[in-house]
Amino acid sequence: MSALSLLVLSMISLFSLTAAAQSDSAVGENEQLLLPRPQSLSYRPGESRVAGMTAPDAVQGDAGLLAYFRQIAAPISTNSVAKHAHRPPAVFSLQPLQPSGVKSLEAYALHITPDSVVVRATGRLGRLRALQTLVQLRSENGTLPCADIDDAPSYAWRGAMIDVSRHFYPLDFLKQQVETMAAFKLNRLHLHLTDAAGWRMEILRYPRLTQLGAWRTDASWEAWWNGGRRYVEEGSPNAYGGYYTQAQLRELVAFAAERGVEIVPEIEMPAHSEEVLTAYPNLSCTHVPYKAADFCPGNPQTYAFLEGVLTEMMDVFPSRYLHLGGDEAGKADWKHCPLCRRRMMEEGIVAPADSLLTPTEAQLHRLQAVLMRHMADFLAAHGRRMMGWDEVVDSLLPKHAAVMVWRNKEMAQRAAALGHDVVLAPASHCYFDFYQDAPPSQPEAIGGYLPFDDVAQFPHGALLPDSLRSRMLGVQGNLWTEYVPTPAAAQRMLYPRLLALAEIGWCGRRTRPVAELRQATIAQTPRLRALGVQPFDLTTEVGQRAEAFRVRHHLAEGATVVYHVPYAEVYPAAAALTLTDGHHGGWSYHDGRWQGFIRSGSDTSSPTFDVTLDLGRVQRITSVSADFMQVCNPEIFYPSAFRVATSTDGIDFHPMGEALFSSVRTRQPDIRTFRVQRPKAVRARYLRIQATPSAFGGWLFTDEIVVQ
Ligand SMILES: [Zn+2]
Repeated sequence: MSALSLLVLSMISLFSLTAAAQSDSAVGENEQLLLPRPQSLSYRPGESRVAGMTAPDAVQGDAGLLAYFRQIAAPISTNSVAKHAHRPPAVFSLQPLQPSGVKSLEAYALHITPDSVVVRATGRLGRLRALQTLVQLRSENGTLPCADIDDAPSYAWRGAMIDVSRHFYPLDFLKQQVETMAAFKLNRLHLHLTDAAGWRMEILRYPRLTQLGAWRTDASWEAWWNGGRRYVEEGSPNAYGGYYTQAQLRELVAFAAERGVEIVPEIEMPAHSEEVLTAYPNLSCTHVPYKAADFCPGNPQTYAFLEGVLTEMMDVFPSRYLHLGGDEAGKADWKHCPLCRRRMMEEGIVAPADSLLTPTEAQLHRLQAVLMRHMADFLAAHGRRMMGWDEVVDSLLPKHAAVMVWRNKEMAQRAAALGHDVVLAPASHCYFDFYQDAPPSQPEAIGGYLPFDDVAQFPHGALLPDSLRSRMLGVQGNLWTEYVPTPAAAQRMLYPRLLALAEIGWCGRRTRPVAELRQATIAQTPRLRALGVQPFDLTTEVGQRAEAFRVRHHLAEGATVVYHVPYAEVYPAAAALTLTDGHHGGWSYHDGRWQGFIRSGSDTSSPTFDVTLDLGRVQRITSVSADFMQVCNPEIFYPSAFRVATSTDGIDFHPMGEALFSSVRTRQPDIRTFRVQRPKAVRARYLRIQATPSAFGGWLFTDEIVVQ
């Protein structure tokens, strides 16, 4: 051996060592960063070369499996280090997983050695999940770490809902969501196909649903909603909207099935149906177009229509569940409708039809339950199951109907206790139409505040007691789209929050602590981008309001508060303690720190907010301030005047000052401090503090009176 060849040899081994060290650290990272994290994963030394691996016949013949396999076995890119290039690729094989003890068809095991990659599963779904893991585990230089993985999901239902009614998105966008969801083992895409803002599925029996009901006059949902809510004929010059043909939806179903995702369609009943009742007005109680949101549940034609729609839906969507809505029915017309009253009488839920008594809310709820029961039984007769929002819970609802909980723990427990399977999607942790960062830093959203970390800390395990836990099908994130006008905006709202839910759905109680999950999620950003998704950038997050959830000490801390105008029962925060407990609220007015005030009627001259504080003893005061929130969509506005008067005896009050403000409508929620200050201290024990609403009227929301 010449000196030269020795030198070359030692250079090569030096190079290999460096490459090995680099690749080991990459492997370690991949382990931490797999999302969702597998149930059990143990590494052994060594690597398996997978670039150039050959697909067995069972994979060759399955387009879905093959697509993932190709990513795993893809040739390495030219700028990567061709490690183990001298070795033949590993042998890939599919083997059975003993079904005994396997609770889920999605369970799988992986055994990776330098020479082989063995996937064990009971069937196709398990194989898919295994391949989806391998795609994440493959390194850039075409290898897999030697490892054993045993994995299975905690929950069978790991979903995302996209509202395609408020804004219609093209089919390709839905396919992209399926592809992205599958990459993170999410398995249900729930499409909210109908609502006032547009009917989105071709129904051959009822062509007016899409000829008229799919097209509205304004692209902006808000402008349309506030501007008369009119529909126009398909092809009209100002028509905004669209619908999916049955052929397109079948294509989507097949595309999703290849990737292990099920499409769950939803049509709304009996409410949220303005578009249907304008296209087919005879299905409402009044028969007047543009005047009804609710179907007439007393009219046999309603049942025939809905059965017709469901028949075509079952034909297109093979899913076990069909979602029938059931939320937020106003039911006002039912009270006076002869058909509704007759149906109630026949069902024994109301006095005879000639009675002058108006049915109560409970009786109207029961009438809705009659309709939902009929539809649940209709689906069951065809081998399907109904799912509905939690308003459908009623003793009349057949046990085989499942409930999607959007409100709270009480609803989840009530549904489960009545024997229904439940999917948890409470607005508090699963509504992705809420702001994901400080609202002033974000495009306009519907309100609320749900940052990534709050999704990651969704207390899914605590919503049902152990005795009812078996009723829990899983979890779902919901994207309502009133303020989500484009596919790009929808992506930004879905991701990365949906990745936190993917982990929770798969890992259940083994979900990583929020900081780790956040890290893993950020590391998935290149994968999201490769899938064509531009997520919200977590690394630029502004975060919660600085003052929120921190105790602030001031002179009025613990002071007694007398309300001259009561706070609204629905927004009590911490009741009489709220304004002097040292706690500020966050970006959401319903976070339990903000107290709401409203006056009935249109009086904007007298104060909506009017309290007296008793500091307990006379103190020297230079400043009195309060923060108010403005969120225009739910009619929460800054006050036009904030006034403070002081007293030493609680009888004679003297004005200390006022802060005036002329509010304008803003797109994003914001918070503003109103302050009355004196250069010289005022002696006072009692403070009368008043705030007058702006010219817009509406609500006032404040969280703390700070006295200094
Ligand atoms: Zn009616």
